[in-house]
Amino acid sequence: MEKEKIVDQLNRPLRDLRISVTDQCNFRCSYCMPKEIFGDDYQFLQQGELLSFSEIEALTRSFVKLGVQKIRLTGGEPLVRKNMPELIERLTNIDGVEDIALTTNGVFLPKYAKLLKEAGLQRVNVSLDSLDEDTFKAMNGRSVGVKPVLAGIEAAIDAGLYVKMNMVVQKGKNDSQILPMARYFKDKGITLRFIEFMDVGTTNGWNFDQVVSKKYIHDLIHAEMPLEPVDADYFGEVAKRYRYVGTDVEIGFISSVTESFCSSCTRARISADGKLYTCLFATSGHDLRKLIRSGASESDIDAELQSIWQTRRDRYSDERTEETAKKRKKIEMSYIGG
Ligand code: SAM
Ligand code: SF4
Ligand code: SF4
Repeated sequence: MEKEKIVDQLNRPLRDLRISVTDQCNFRCSYCMPKEIFGDDYQFLQQGELLSFSEIEALTRSFVKLGVQKIRLTGGEPLVRKNMPELIERLTNIDGVEDIALTTNGVFLPKYAKLLKEAGLQRVNVSLDSLDEDTFKAMNGRSVGVKPVLAGIEAAIDAGLYVKMNMVVQKGKNDSQILPMARYFKDKGITLRFIEFMDVGTTNGWNFDQVVSKKYIHDLIHAEMPLEPVDADYFGEVAKRYRYVGTDVEIGFISSVTESFCSSCTRARISADGKLYTCLFATSGHDLRKLIRSGASESDIDAELQSIWQTRRDRYSDERTEETAKKRKKIEMSYIGG
């Protein structure tokens, strides 16, 4: 298919689309959906407010025409939305989609991994912040143990999915788990990516003091298990990659706070209710659901997306200060997706 190859104001192409399929989740991770805020009376989106699969498919077709090659499905917890294999199958069939991945807390993978793979899913990123039972139970806010997540990882591997792990590191909460996690996943031959605790949204009580830097984590691991850098595979790769010397096993760092990477950010995000965000830290989005439900034609949608991307100037992490991090009214992670 002939692609448009558009770039934004900072000359960044549009390559990746992250689609949040729900704002709901079976976990209440303290850094994402603190249970004190996301309690029993929290108003989640109603069914009719979510983009339907047909709407997601239509939007994806337009995004692909403008350069998107990779799709990531996220949430909330994407596997709490019904019929996800159907959505994967629809998106896989779009000409020009080269890669589909899903980010999940892993608990529902024993139930769905095989069906997801059969539908065309290639990769899953499973989030796990600790191997220590008590630490993990406290962090996920729902007292879920480590075992269901490990069972999810096994199920994904058995189904033939390629698995990478994500661990958010928060000082004083799970930094003691950096080495145990690194050793465990090195042994298993699975890539573990450390994510710096970010100031997404306004409810997670973020401050700089709780961020454990990429450099600290790298040096800690390197002292015990020497690491060597690995070149990026493509422009816009989010994680900085390293390999354990003498092995094929990699680790990665997503260092949004201490080593930002806005100059190569090729990602657009659609929230569960169909707003397009051109940055994870945006304060407002563009209402694509309204556009699509107003009967806009495919070429109207193409033109709108093109115009939004071509005016994009976001580079929040490059410019972040303690002040902007605390004062800016940002969208919650569970709504916009990771
Ligand atoms: N529920 C799924 C999961 O946890 O994998 C998908 C959605 S979750 C919002 C996507 C990713 O964002 C997860 O790896 C999660 O750990 C990460 N995340 C959430 N809040 C974060 C924060 N404040 N800082 C850094 N990463 C965060
Ligand atoms: Fe749920 Fe994922 Fe957020 Fe944890 S990080 S609360 S699993 S959406
Ligand atoms: Fe991209 Fe915004 Fe993150 Fe910068 S801060 S890398 S522009 S999402």
